[in-house]
Amino acid sequence: PKRIFSGIQPTGIPHLGNYLGALRQWVKLQNEAKASTTLLFSIVDLHAITVRQDASTLFQMRKQMLASLLAVGLDPSKSILFCQSAVLQHAELMWMLSCNASVGYLSRMTQWKSKLNLRPNASPFDAPPSSNSREALKLGLFSYPVLQAADILLYNTTHVPVGEDQSQHVEFTRELATGFNHAFGDLLVPPQTILSPAKRVMSLKQPHKKMSKSAVNEGSRILISDTQEVVEEKIKVAVTDSVQGDITYEPKMRPGVANLINIAFYMDESGMQQRGLASPEQLAQTMQHLAFQDWKPAIADIIGKSLAPIRERYMDIMERDRQEQYLGKVQKDGASRAKAIAEPNLRRIKNAMGMGSFD
Ligand code: ATP
Ligand code: MG
Repeated sequence: PKRIFSGIQPTGIPHLGNYLGALRQWVKLQNEAKASTTLLFSIVDLHAITVRQDASTLFQMRKQMLASLLAVGLDPSKSILFCQSAVLQHAELMWMLSCNASVGYLSRMTQWKSKLNLRPNASPFDAPPSSNSREALKLGLFSYPVLQAADILLYNTTHVPVGEDQSQHVEFTRELATGFNHAFGDLLVPPQTILSPAKRVMSLKQPHKKMSKSAVNEGSRILISDTQEVVEEKIKVAVTDSVQGDITYEPKMRPGVANLINIAFYMDESGMQQRGLASPEQLAQTMQHLAFQDWKPAIADIIGKSLAPIRERYMDIMERDRQEQYLGKVQKDGASRAKAIAEPNLRRIKNAMGMGSFD
């Protein structure tokens, strides 16, 4: 039987990158799942604290994330939704895996390198990071992929739906599982990655970087809770280019334009299908003669319309929470179901490592 696990950090309300790269895929997997499939989706707060978080903001963002998961269509009667910090086994398994994870492999992770400012293709003319700022980097940030591996392996996950930026971490998880099994017996399941067709959604301000919750500029991302007006405004000032003439789909040459076309296409896939459009290129063709000042509103319209029902559900859920502490109930129930899987698994792992109980 399939077991699906994925996580999202409570670092802000999800943006369209999270939605197209991950959340929508989760909902699809949930709705198409056989009865024998287990789906677990975690709000990974232990990951969020690898960078400094204000406590009361984090508390609020965890709730907002749970409301967002429900708003996009995850259903607590079909999927196990819970906060990572509520299931203690994540941190415990992480320790055991840490003792089997090599520092060398971890230091080659792109995400870590980017924090170190040692990008794989960094030019020799780039200013090196000062040793001071390097030494201030936190241990948890470095070992983050090990926690992610623990999240996945704790549930004998077979499939991990993530955005492209996470596939290297799932690869690491596979290697860690294989190495662990070699040492202690066949206990961990090396998982497969499921990439969504939308792949990578780029920032509205820097179209060569991915859209991200934690980027400083709020104008760089569209949130699933944004109103039509906010969507219009953000698209209006999105960075495109000043190429005169037709709208064309050229991801390499015109990344800003291509990004907006991609977003619009994938946000309204069923609408596109009805119009007989099979790819972002084809959508671009229908728009090629629009002037920029007409094209941007057309894009904003597609995006705003597809977001409207999600936004409404988000508002309803928040209201329901104010009335009956709904989110707390969903979280508690999810966490206890997650624990019921995690506990016996972790016990088997501890037994195999020589840490079984004496009685
Ligand atoms: P943060 O900036 O705090 O890391 P984030 O936007 O990267 O936030 P995460 O919580 O780290 O979001 O990731 C949640 C999921 O969203 C992951 O599966 C990740 O691959 C996916 N994802 C994040 N950003 C994008 C993006 N721009 N395009 C496609 N998928 C994305
Ligand atoms: Mg991220």
